[in-house]
Amino acid sequence: MKKLITVTLILLLAAAVVWNRAHQVRQEPQGTLDLATIQKVFPGAERFEFQHNPFPLYAVYQKGAAPEKPVPDGYAFLTTDLAPHVMGYAGPIVMLVGIDPSHRIQGICVLESHETSAYAYGIEKDWWLKQFIGLGPKSNIAPEGDIDAISSATVTVSAVCRAVRESLQKIAAADLVQPKAVSAGKGKVRLSRHPEIYFLLALFLLSLPTYLFLWNRLRTVLLVAGFLYLGIKLKMLFSVAHVTGLLDGMLPDFEGATLMWIFLALIILTGFVFGRVYCGYACPFGALQEFIYKISPWRMKVNLRVSRRLARVKYYLLWLLAMAALLYPALRVTNYETFALTFTLTGPLLVWYFTGLTLIFSFFIERFYCRYFCFAGACLGILNHVSLSRIDIDPNCSNCYTCERICSTGAIHGTRLDTEECILCNRCRRNCPKGKIKVRFFKR
Ligand code: SF4
Ligand code: SF4
Repeated sequence: MKKLITVTLILLLAAAVVWNRAHQVRQEPQGTLDLATIQKVFPGAERFEFQHNPFPLYAVYQKGAAPEKPVPDGYAFLTTDLAPHVMGYAGPIVMLVGIDPSHRIQGICVLESHETSAYAYGIEKDWWLKQFIGLGPKSNIAPEGDIDAISSATVTVSAVCRAVRESLQKIAAADLVQPKAVSAGKGKVRLSRHPEIYFLLALFLLSLPTYLFLWNRLRTVLLVAGFLYLGIKLKMLFSVAHVTGLLDGMLPDFEGATLMWIFLALIILTGFVFGRVYCGYACPFGALQEFIYKISPWRMKVNLRVSRRLARVKYYLLWLLAMAALLYPALRVTNYETFALTFTLTGPLLVWYFTGLTLIFSFFIERFYCRYFCFAGACLGILNHVSLSRIDIDPNCSNCYTCERICSTGAIHGTRLDTEECILCNRCRRNCPKGKIKVRFFKR
């Protein structure tokens, strides 16, 4: 029966992926904007004409323009029409841009975006968008150029800049009267632009010997580094949005989000060899919970049977979340991931309450959120099942139950290990009085 339910859920998820892919094509046909929408970027617009050639554009005429006026007062366009390949963190970001006849931006607004609000706070605000006003195809429209980056929204900001920049360049290149556009920022990805990559490589590469050789002090250092640099500085956490993005193919490309792709690659590669290295050595929110529990005077003894049942809940929640993200992208389900708000301090009120409760419960139960609610951790648990190595408890041990009592996620039951719950913290290995817990390769 359990197997039947699992297979049914997987099949339904696969059907949702197929449905999502089939409906990714823009719902509204091109040329369906109305005057009220155009006026968001051209407040003085009185009428407009939609033209297909050379690409979808709205020729805009201001109030008082003669009915036969041959040259429009400007153009409006959707970045998703001119640069449809540019993706944000959660798919395309529909920007409406108004330009004057010399291709300088007159107005800009976000019409639709599914970005997680905790990460993308700011891109829909006037104070940020007004930086684009006056910029043209020759401007350096990039986070490290004429536009201020938003530290919590690196991928989103890059996507917005790139979509606007490429659209303007396309328009300018098609107009022989206008000077040729510069190809700002397009082309090769320069690693020197992303010094954070070296930090990521060091963090993950150091995690591996730390895990294998039981270097507990270094593990604490890595967790502190992950918390401060990944969490506080970069606000980069593995999210279920990455998983749904991989499923529906809506993640930005490598050029638009180099750091994110390297981050994901490191999580997946280390995951395939060892399992949840990210959870045990790098995750900022996991680190925060661990530090809270370390200093807590109110640690509680958890009933392992109840805990084990509750831990299952997150897999069903994960399934529901993935289905909702695939079938109703507009819901922005990843807004409800607690850890995003913890580091960006932006998100829906409900999530503020939930985050507060999570952090309070972390004083009583070690890695409370990881155990019962973390969707991202639930995804990574799958890696533990397919990884080349895993923690292995010798069934002929002395049954002292030390490891069961001290496991930081309640993953051990007698000599059985729920491998998907293990975060590779090594506490069981370090404390087994008989040395019967080992890392084994190629063991199923
Ligand atoms: S379970 Fe979630 S919160 Fe915990 S360490 Fe893993 S990803 Fe981070
Ligand atoms: S103590 Fe638990 S979570 Fe840590 S390595 Fe052992 S089994 Fe895994």
